[in-house]
Order: sequence, then structure tokens, then C-alpha cells
Amino acid sequence: MHDYAIIGGGIVGLATAMALGDKHPNANVLVLEKEQDLAQHQSGRNSGVIHSGIYYKPGSLKARFAREGNRSMNKFCREHGIKHEVCGKVIVATKAAELPLLDNLFQRGLDHGLAVARLSPEQVQEIEPHVRCLAGVKVPSTGIVNYRDVSAKYVELIKLQGGTVQTGTRVDRLREVNGIQLIETSRGEFEAGFILNCAGLFSDRVARFGGLDPGAKIVPFRGEYYELVPERRYLVKSLVYPVPNPSFPFLGVHFTRMIDDSVHAGPNAVLAFMREGYRRTDINFADLFETLTFPGFWKLARKHYQDGIMEMVRSVSKRTFTKSLQQLIPEVTEDDLIPTDSGVRAQALMADGKLVDDFLVVSGRNSIHVCNAPSPAATASVEIGRFIANHVPEVTSTRRPLCICLANQQVCRVNDPA
Ligand SMILES: Cc1cc2nc3c(=O)[nH]c(=O)nc-3n(C[C@H](O)[C@H](O)[C@H](O)COP(=O)(O)OP(=O)(O)OC[C@H]3O[C@@H](n4cnc5c(N)ncnc54)[C@H](O)[C@@H]3O)c2cc1C
Repeated sequence: MHDYAIIGGGIVGLATAMALGDKHPNANVLVLEKEQDLAQHQSGRNSGVIHSGIYYKPGSLKARFAREGNRSMNKFCREHGIKHEVCGKVIVATKAAELPLLDNLFQRGLDHGLAVARLSPEQVQEIEPHVRCLAGVKVPSTGIVNYRDVSAKYVELIKLQGGTVQTGTRVDRLREVNGIQLIETSRGEFEAGFILNCAGLFSDRVARFGGLDPGAKIVPFRGEYYELVPERRYLVKSLVYPVPNPSFPFLGVHFTRMIDDSVHAGPNAVLAFMREGYRRTDINFADLFETLTFPGFWKLARKHYQDGIMEMVRSVSKRTFTKSLQQLIPEVTEDDLIPTDSGVRAQALMADGKLVDDFLVVSGRNSIHVCNAPSPAATASVEIGRFIANHVPEVTSTRRPLCICLANQQVCRVNDPA
């Protein structure tokens, strides 16, 4: 019998396990991961950016987690000798229509207390000589790291705390019998006092295993990347981003120097036909059926079909993808770009067609379900882990925990349904 069982060995599940181990040193913590290795999905297939939090709405959990997460991720990396770099990034406006949006972003950066600087085109070129733009904003606190390295360190620390990390174990069903959580897996049954669902792309399904309706469905959006050929890496010094679309900040391909010195360009955002569909040809009819029969998907598609079509064109046409990149760095050519590993975002979508923008954490009886952990969740993982651990009651055999419901930036305590 374990006190806490965490479903999902991505960076959020691992950070949560680590934080629980810190907070309750005598607790028996178990992580169950379906893959043979950890951080194989979103946590190991991302841009590797330590975000600053400039984009996020003031007052949102994203903004708070990103700001505090930036500090704690850098501290964690320093303390544990994980290779990382605070290289800063520039956000650039390349069209006159983007200038007011850039100004808003600059103001938001100031509101968040970030040491942002407004840059002329010449000042941008001092930092990124190959970028052509009308104006820019420098965000000095943005950094880079490999989140697989961070996840591996979390695992080491969980094991040092006495926790268990069990890979190759897929959770298939959840039941509660006499206050004990029974977890049916591909490797037999486990018992726990409290369950934490951090299953990323499957978090809504895992919540439903436990009879809970999270109020949103995960729709997978693939993010495809190209990589600059090594002899053209000199075109990018650190991170170069366009001004984001205010409705979809995750749209807009950008250049990211990775911690191994390769330079990635992307990601776009296209509907994946499978929850872990990393290639265009990956298809799972059950996953696709679930997406296409969800009313929220069609409401979103109707409203934003133009953005959707543009993303699909950019996915199949390297020329279009290159053209988007040329808006930032005109010297980039199709020959400079080679396709590299993609990632799939677990994006929660409501039945009314609204994308869940913030973190969505829903509680059940003796369980907490992280049903939307979008970017900057990797940056903010230490903070998210602590936040969840602080909301999880100490499990004892006699006391039934208080249910906590956190949705749309609010934490509301609800009575235990029992
Ligand atoms: C393309 C892309 C770029 C991004 N860039 C950045 C960035 O630069 N900076 C940043 O901060 N964030 C970034 N993000 C966001 C960040 O990567 C994610 O928010 C974060 O990794 C989410 O972590 P997670 O642990 O919730 O999910 P995951 O890493 O997906 O982990 C979930 C785990 O649950 C496991 N699982 C699922 N179902 C079961 C089951 N039934 N039983 C057992 N295990 C199960 C899965 O195998 C998986 O390992 C990016 C994301 C993407 C996709």
C-alpha cells in the first residue's frame, strides 16, 4: 500500500512526486509510467526553453508559475549541475500592424516585473545580426535547458527520498474500495491512499477511469520542427520569436538555440490524428473519432478555421514553413532546414470550443487530476509540484482528505462528496 500514487512519469508527475517526498518525508510515494523510460512525451519533446512569463495574463497561474518557475528552474539546475544557460530572447515585430502588440507585450513584461528592454532594429541586430525587423523587445531572463536532464535528476532525487518509480506500467482502471484507491495496471494491481493524475495527453481519460468528468477533453496538437544544418547555425545566437497572436500565443514559429547548440525552428501546431502521433501518418481511429465527435472541436474549428488551414499548409509545405521563418531571418533557405523530432501538446478543450488557457487541476475523492498542463509547465515544474503537494492532504488511514477544485485560476474548496 502506497500513500501517494502518481500516474505519469513526465516532468509534472516527477516534480509532484519529488515535492510530496519533500513535504511528507515518511510518505510512501509511487510513480507509475506506461513507457519503459521517463519523459518520453511532452517533457522530452519540447523547445527546451526556460520561459520568463512575459506572455501570460497578469493574475493567471501561468504567469505566476512561469515567473517563479523561471527562478526555481535556474536554481535547481545550478544546484544540481544541470547544463543550462540564461541566454535571453528577442521578440520582434516584422510588420507595422505588430508594433502595438509588441508595445503591449513590453508593457506586460514591465507589469510582471521583468527587466525587459524595448529595442530599435539596430539594437536587435547587435544581439541577433541576421534578424530583420521594425522593433524588438529583449527578455533577458529567458533560458534554455534539456528537460530530459531535469526529469532524470527529479527521478534521482525521488529515489533518494525513498520513492519508487515504476516504468512499463500502464494504468488501465481506477476504483475505490473502503477509502483505498485500487489502481489496475498492465502489471497488476496497486493500492494507494491518494492518487495524482499527471498523465498529460491521457489525463482526461485517466480522470474518467476514476469516474470524474474533468469538464474538458484533451485534443492533441502536433508541433513540428526543423533544425538548421550545422553550417548555418551561426544565423541564430539565442532565441528569436515573432510577436504572438494574442488568441493563440503558441502559434508562430520561432528559432531556438538548444542547450546542445543545435538550432530548432518551429513548432507549428496541427491537429494530430493520434494522442501520441508524432508523424503526419500516425493515426489512431479511436483517438480521432473521439476528437471529431467532440462538439467543442467543431466549435473551435468553425471559429479558427483560417489559422487551422494555415498551420496545415505550413505542415505539408516546407516552402511555406521557410517563408514564415524568413520573416524573422530573410537569409534562411529551404536547404538550410532539415526535419527533426516533433512534439504533441496535450491541449484541453471545453465543450463550448474554448481552449483551456490556464492550468486545469480538478479534484476527485482522494485524487487530484492535472487536466491541462500547457507550456510553461516544464519551466514551472518545481513550482507546480510544490503547489500540488501543498494542496494534497497528508494521507492517513483514518482521515478522508478534503477535496480541492482548481479551475480557471481559482482554487475552491469543495466538500468531500462523501
Ligand atoms: C512542442 C512543445 C514545445 C514545448 N516547449 C516548451 C518549452 O520550451 N518550455 C516549457 O516550459 N514548456 C514547453 N512545452 C510544454 C511542456 O513540455 C509540457 O507542458 C510538460 O512537459 C507537460 O508535462 P507532463 O508531465 O504534464 O506531460 P508528459 O510529459 O506528456 O507526461 C505524461 C506522462 O504520463 C504517461 N501516461 C499517460 N497515460 C498513462 C497511463 N494510463 N498510465 C501510466 N502512465 C501514463 C505518459 O507516458 C507520459 O510519460 C512544450 C510542449 C510541446 C508539446
